[in-house]
Amino acid sequence: MATPDTRQQRSIAVLGAGIVGAATALALAAEGHEVTVFDRGEVGAGTSSGNAGGIVEGAVMPTATPDVLRSIPSYVFNRNGAAVLRPSYALQALPWLLRFIAAGRPARVASIAAALAPLVSRSMASHLALAEMSGALDAIRLVGWLKVYRSEAAFNNTTLQRELMTRHGVNFSILSAREIAALEPNLSRDAYNCGLFQPGSGFVDNPRGLVEKYFAGARQRRAGYVQENVLELRPNSDGTIAVRTEQSTRTFDAAVVATGAWSKHFAAQIGDRVSLDTERGYHMSFAPTAGALLNRPVGFPEKDCVLSPMHDGIRVVSGDELAGLTAAPNYRRIRALAPFARSVLPGIKSQTIQREWMGHRPSTPDSLPVIGRSPRCNNVFYAFGHGHLGLTMAATTAELIAGLVAGRAAPFDLAPYRVDRF
Ligand SMILES: Cc1cc2nc3c(=O)[nH]c(=O)nc-3n(C[C@H](O)[C@H](O)[C@H](O)COP(=O)(O)OP(=O)(O)OC[C@H]3O[C@@H](n4cnc5c(N)ncnc54)[C@H](O)[C@@H]3O)c2cc1C
Repeated sequence: MATPDTRQQRSIAVLGAGIVGAATALALAAEGHEVTVFDRGEVGAGTSSGNAGGIVEGAVMPTATPDVLRSIPSYVFNRNGAAVLRPSYALQALPWLLRFIAAGRPARVASIAAALAPLVSRSMASHLALAEMSGALDAIRLVGWLKVYRSEAAFNNTTLQRELMTRHGVNFSILSAREIAALEPNLSRDAYNCGLFQPGSGFVDNPRGLVEKYFAGARQRRAGYVQENVLELRPNSDGTIAVRTEQSTRTFDAAVVATGAWSKHFAAQIGDRVSLDTERGYHMSFAPTAGALLNRPVGFPEKDCVLSPMHDGIRVVSGDELAGLTAAPNYRRIRALAPFARSVLPGIKSQTIQREWMGHRPSTPDSLPVIGRSPRCNNVFYAFGHGHLGLTMAATTAELIAGLVAGRAAPFDLAPYRVDRF
């Protein structure tokens, strides 16, 4: 195995130009490293372009919980449920699903929440630091994260979430209908009776734009860009790392794997086996209106969707579909949300739908990202698997990777994010 390189400035390949790769490239370039970013597509054009825009400081609740486990049968049989497992993918998804079920046991939920807490609680501070470096401060707004509920039963389902948030010191409050109306006057009054609000969370109304800004910040610090499909990551016998694309092979002192849902393949080339699948998510975008209709994203857990006021119109975000990386999108469920979106936000009643989109969340079964050094190769670092919270955790991940590369002590225990935990 290679020995760590003790030089201060190193040549580093960052694989992937999504929010995690761009943030990491910026953090590394800011420390003087010679960074080269590889992506087969355009910067920020993948999964990181289509999310709900939330930087959710209080997101300490994992995806797998006892409640979610009870609903798993409906994921298979109910085509309109909160999540869908495509029957043709069921066998392939099985190992991941079994680990997901194990992660949903109460004791595991508590330990996963404790491991999410240090990542999400510093998410805004980390983003603001990168935004400051890259002239992107105006891209992030401190407007809070709001979820609204119509039925008492739905609100009561948040008991575990509230317990976890309280345990981890998240600043949140329960809102009355009157308080929600004051925050979001254009929402139909029939849409809610109460809500949960986390005032410390942020919102990005152009998620791809933020990736581009971080990347531009890295560029200003001499980062290069290679728009090629990476085929192989290979440690050389002299301790360097070769990155082979369809067109070329280049050699670096170190490499960071930040290829989102496609990262398992590169970890396997290094000899690290990881449990990673994709929870596919969808959005539909309504044509912009003359004035702003919402001041922040609003989640409707009873409909499993979020309405986000993006720079190019209201975005309805939903869906959790296990169907792998290559199956064609199925927009049926997101389309079915259009009447609901129009009813809760009458201002979009006559707006046409201008885009339908599908992206691949890079998901581990325990809702924790993979952040750290490969145990098999000192010069390979992992930064993937951020699932539902990749925008939220990207900047903190970037800070942690930059710290690991520099050999600094981590600000908290990184063991829960190890690649070999599965
Ligand atoms: C509908 C939806 C809503 C969401 N809402 C939120 C939210 O509100 N807040 C939040 O925090 N998170 C949210 N997320 C999650 C978040 O968007 C993702 O976790 C995040 O975008 C993942 O970023 P990434 O950089 O790891 O991956 P990506 O954005 O997928 O970037 C990976 C990059 O790697 C490149 N790549 C892959 N393989 C190769 C290869 N072989 N060669 C070269 N390049 C390659 C790809 O082209 C891609 O550009 C949401 C996700 C979805 C789908």
